[in-house]
Amino acid sequence: MVVLLQLPRFHASVFLTKPPSLCKTHFHLLLKPKIPITIKSTLSTISDPTQNLAIPEEETHVQVSLEKLFVPPETDVPSGSSTSSLSARILKGSNIVLAKYARDAQISQADFVKSSVRTEDCPSDGLPEFALVGRSNVGKSSLLNSLVRRKRLALTSKKPGKTQCINHFRINDSWYLVDLPGYGYAAAPQELRIDWEKFTKDYFLNRPTLVSVFLLIDASIPAKKIDLEYASWLGVNQIPMTLIFTKCDKRKKKKNGGKRTEENVNDFQELIRGFFQTAPPWIMTSSVTNQGRDEILLHMAQLRNYWLKH
Ligand code: GDP
Repeated sequence: MVVLLQLPRFHASVFLTKPPSLCKTHFHLLLKPKIPITIKSTLSTISDPTQNLAIPEEETHVQVSLEKLFVPPETDVPSGSSTSSLSARILKGSNIVLAKYARDAQISQADFVKSSVRTEDCPSDGLPEFALVGRSNVGKSSLLNSLVRRKRLALTSKKPGKTQCINHFRINDSWYLVDLPGYGYAAAPQELRIDWEKFTKDYFLNRPTLVSVFLLIDASIPAKKIDLEYASWLGVNQIPMTLIFTKCDKRKKKKNGGKRTEENVNDFQELIRGFFQTAPPWIMTSSVTNQGRDEILLHMAQLRNYWLKH
């Protein structure tokens, strides 16, 4: 009930599938100091986890409190550390600390494998996967194309009959990117909407190889109720989630209440805080400038490599 109080306009139905419990995300935060600190991100100094990715060389200063950071497990962070003794790095435009599992991030091959209408029909080879999901028009196809650097790959899942399927793309023959149906499409008939919702939720709850859901949120507009509901449902059901903020290249507009993308990003996190025990990882992206592309790949690599080891 505590969580409901934080979002009084929420429809209670999103909490009905399981009793509310708070999602810890899949990794635990290792440190929780009480005061906000500035962490110097020195991306160029640590031995080669980046595998030739175009990580900016300049130092990035991120003002973030440690309790809002996403610190992967087995990350070498001295207890009681001060800022200067923290050798880990934060990926640019994110709250994610880069750790030792971030390797083999680059995509060299991407193949469409299949479209499934039920979780049971999805590939059964046990490879780890990441599911992309978001409101229609959030920029999911653009992001998918930008990740695999193939202009029209995501069109495969926009073909008639496939937009409402679970579409699997095999990457480097070793893991999957999964394109899920967009939600919140106003023109869709109500019965269809409920049906899609049901099968997507079934996939989230019953897919053991799902490493993390990547929930796309348009950072150029204020938080939408449907996105908050989606994020909170994932939190309550303890589905690992990464927030991907899209369209971060867009300038603020009067009609959006004059908010900058950074403000929308912060607001969204504040609004979902009550549903997560530890801060979910988040990354700011743009498919126009490719901002966040390498950061997403590194984040996926470290989640994947950790998952494979455990
Ligand atoms: P989908 O429905 O979620 O697959 O969204 P699309 O990838 O088709 O994009 C929807 C619209 O948003 C298109 O007009 C895109 O050109 C635009 N768009 C997508 N990503 C970005 C972005 O990063 N920045 C900007 N400015 N526009 C974007």
